[in-house]
Amino acid sequence: MSRGIFWFRRDLRLADNPALSRAIQSHDDVLFVYIDEAEPGSHDASRAWLGKSLAALAADLERRGATLHVLGGDPKALLPRLAAACGADAVHVSSLYEPQRDARDAELAALLSRAGVTMRRAGGRLLTDADQVRSKSDAPYRVFTPFFKAALPTWNYRPRAAPERIAGAVLPAELAGAVTRIAAPKPRWDLGFWRQWTPGEASARERLRAFLDDLDAYPDERDHPGIDATSRLSPHLHFGEISPGHVFDAARARGGAGADKFIAELGWREFAYYVLRHWPDSLTGNFNPRFDTFPWQQDPVGLEAWKRGRTGVPLIDAGMRQLWHEGWMHNRVRMVVASWLTKHMGIHWKEGAAWFMHTLVDADIASNTLGWQWVAGTGVDAAPYFRVFNPVTQSRRFDPSGTYLRRWLPELAGLDDASIHAPWEARRAIPGYPDKPIVDLDSGRRGALERLERIARR
Ligand SMILES: Cc1cc2nc3c(=O)[nH]c(=O)nc-3n(C[C@H](O)[C@H](O)[C@H](O)COP(=O)(O)OP(=O)(O)OC[C@H]3O[C@@H](n4cnc5c(N)ncnc54)[C@H](O)[C@@H]3O)c2cc1C
Repeated sequence: MSRGIFWFRRDLRLADNPALSRAIQSHDDVLFVYIDEAEPGSHDASRAWLGKSLAALAADLERRGATLHVLGGDPKALLPRLAAACGADAVHVSSLYEPQRDARDAELAALLSRAGVTMRRAGGRLLTDADQVRSKSDAPYRVFTPFFKAALPTWNYRPRAAPERIAGAVLPAELAGAVTRIAAPKPRWDLGFWRQWTPGEASARERLRAFLDDLDAYPDERDHPGIDATSRLSPHLHFGEISPGHVFDAARARGGAGADKFIAELGWREFAYYVLRHWPDSLTGNFNPRFDTFPWQQDPVGLEAWKRGRTGVPLIDAGMRQLWHEGWMHNRVRMVVASWLTKHMGIHWKEGAAWFMHTLVDADIASNTLGWQWVAGTGVDAAPYFRVFNPVTQSRRFDPSGTYLRRWLPELAGLDDASIHAPWEARRAIPGYPDKPIVDLDSGRRGALERLERIARR
């Protein structure tokens, strides 16, 4: 009789899960666990998602005859105890491709091996083998386009159906004290999220199916925040409720210009993990060291106004309120709010990145760090330093009739299409809304350029 442990992490699905398929094929029965190691209060929005995603996964497993056990504690202490108590000879996981977690996995593998237990890792979270995709000079790529050209031909996908019946093992009684649950945030600021989102594998597949019906409109409409034209698959992909291979394959099969553009966006997710693999320090420091002496501004009042959607600039405020109420923000608006914080306000990108990690349901250290450093100009393949998004121009261009602004800023709903993007220009007080931007658009831009030029000249 052989028993294995399957440790779910960010692969909360039954289909297309190579590590899970291997675990089920290798053993007579399998003990299914998720280990919660987070500090209470950390990454609140995505933890709220996690709680619901685990509930969906537990129900999917239950229907196939197995139970998911959610345990709390340090995996290095829990897993050897668990393996000894249930007589497992292997622990199966999907790789995370996060430098710190991968290093911890190596320690854990050594620890388990001393107890005669094998730790077996499999892929499934990414499509790109970061060590294989290298430039002609055998260096890792620093720019997205050549990376993507080299990576795309290597992407392949082997569909694996979800198992129909699963022989699940029972949690040993001595581990009962470790059973926990993912508590909902307090206060319940996540309640509005669930009007928009349903975590779990079935919902991820349904979202992909519905999105593919409208894929042809994606290239033209994806930048318009007032139109629901993007897939909104990011939290499902982050938690591994659907595999990137499945998404890629379905888009490729659908074909056309929409598919090409969409697959390139999946490429950015791959690039984010690629950068993290090759430059792990970019998680905590500027990718471009010239920025290490950059004169970031201290402005706690301004930072708070940005977080709360009270800057007086409609597109910024609409984006920040969407983030708070939905746990998600449209990509174009993410770029504009990040540019405003780091350039017009001069506040360190790390402050913005931390707020996003706390409030996004798709909070992902690789994509978030890449996005923030790209916009701030400190990162790999960074936007040129002189690109300072003008939030009013962006608003007029990508939300011309103010659909997005009116949805999130009811106090501006009565303004006409011409004045809603910059209400201060009409010099009319709007009850409940700031009279003017907290930073003047022109002087904010000039200040940013002066600071950035000093760095560029070095
Ligand atoms: C400042 C900033 C912070 C960001 N933080 C995150 C984050 O924490 N988590 C996250 O998943 N994405 C992040 N992004 C990337 C992007 O905004 C989201 O992935 C996208 O908005 C998700 O919406 P969607 O699923 O409808 O995207 P779609 O347009 O439908 O794209 C499909 C998928 O491709 C991937 N993708 C698309 N654009 C990007 C991108 N620029 N970088 C990396 N992957 C991308 C996502 O997995 C997405 O689900 C950030 C971008 C910026 C500018």
